[in-house]
Amino acid sequence: MNHFKFLACCVFLLPALVSGAQQNEYLDSATRQNVAQIVDFIMKDDATLEYDRALADDIGPRLTGSQAYADAARWATEQFRALKLDNVHTERFRMKAAWEPRIEAKAELLRPRQQTLHMISLGWSPSTPTSGVRGRVFLIRNLLSPQALEQDRNKIKGSIALVDRSSYSFTNGLLPGTYFAALASLRDYGAQAVLIGGGRSDNDVDYGGAVTMDGSIASLPIARVGREDLALMMRLLTKGPVTAQFSYQNQIRTPAQAENVIAEIRGREKPDEFVIVGAHLDSVQVGTGAQDNAAGVATVLETARAIMASGVVPRRSIRFILFGGEEEWELGSKAYVGQHEPELGKCSAVLITDTGSDTSYGWYVNGRDDEVPALKDIGPLLQPLGGSGISQTADYLLHSDHTAFLLRGVPTLMLWTEMSNYFHYVHQPGDTFDKIDRQKFAKGTAIFAVTAYAIADSARPFAPHLSRNEVDQLLKTTKQYEGYLDMVKHSAGQVVP
Ligand SMILES: [Zn+2]
Repeated sequence: MNHFKFLACCVFLLPALVSGAQQNEYLDSATRQNVAQIVDFIMKDDATLEYDRALADDIGPRLTGSQAYADAARWATEQFRALKLDNVHTERFRMKAAWEPRIEAKAELLRPRQQTLHMISLGWSPSTPTSGVRGRVFLIRNLLSPQALEQDRNKIKGSIALVDRSSYSFTNGLLPGTYFAALASLRDYGAQAVLIGGGRSDNDVDYGGAVTMDGSIASLPIARVGREDLALMMRLLTKGPVTAQFSYQNQIRTPAQAENVIAEIRGREKPDEFVIVGAHLDSVQVGTGAQDNAAGVATVLETARAIMASGVVPRRSIRFILFGGEEEWELGSKAYVGQHEPELGKCSAVLITDTGSDTSYGWYVNGRDDEVPALKDIGPLLQPLGGSGISQTADYLLHSDHTAFLLRGVPTLMLWTEMSNYFHYVHQPGDTFDKIDRQKFAKGTAIFAVTAYAIADSARPFAPHLSRNEVDQLLKTTKQYEGYLDMVKHSAGQVVP
């Protein structure tokens, strides 16, 4: 769509926003007028798009703890300062290790014949010895059973352990902490290294993220091999011995630190109460993280820019936070919650965007039905943007920077966005700026900004804070309790239960 038509459509949206929002208890007319201005600022230029482009193209992949991450944090700080936000600063958090690939994997099948294998080191895997790993490949039969592993001890000893979907089964979806601990336990049975099959097709090796949940380095090299390579090795293993060799080097610093980037718009009436709007600044090492999550960062920055540009000041403060360490199981947001425990009672809501830039439908409430009444009151403001939907799924309850806040009983929301394309690109070399659709992205950003401003500006509270027991109940009714226990057990105290 050309720029002229795009503008025409925004002018059309504005009156609909103001008149479409009928009087209700949650919003007053001043809030509705202000929101219309904010939407106009977001829709009428390309600032959201340019924030995404700058982070993805100019800075590129930004693993937490790397120089590129520090560059991204400096860039984000400069953006907030340029917008003249209050209290722009960074807050450090410690990591057990910073990790970056230095020499990419080189891998080959040796027996029964030579062939190059497609491989990538998983995140937070140690390097192989410089001479590489060389040995017999052994397919693990039952990764989750210590008895089965014990029976195979002699076969695992000295081997390259191959792990396939047939090696494990979880009743209610994979528990990452249990899975990673089981992979690491193969070292106790004498395995030299672990190969996990994966990738989508064509021996593409995607990056599956860190293989520990607490930012520590795994106890043995864990790498990913392409789907077709895995299938080939499994077929060959039914006919006779298979041997392989590989090597890769990762750069590891222990301990390490990184920072969350924070800025504020001070509220006009209740400045000590605040709404957090956040996204993660870090990415994995492949692609440029344009969707995951430069899109979220751009939305947070654009929300700040549009509110500042419209000159409106909400009743409560809005705190903008760009978190690090999300890809290593939310290290930055967990640290933030730990560091800000005493003031969480003043946090009205946490709005997170980590779902890409495609069509946005509204919000995930992660089972918090008590958020629905206020969201329904905001709905008429979101409807012209296509964003008045409320998703019933709680599938992402434990999967982004809202989690640590939700576990403390703070009301949280995650932007609900079409993710069929997102899952095709995320954590892939193809996660680049060219996939972003300008208008869908701007509308999603407007949905985010409208909701944030409305919650910050309402005379009424958004939703109650839950007690510890109520959080447990929520985790149980949303069938996330098992995943939660897995997370607590394997995050070494980073999530306070
Ligand atoms: Zn993400």
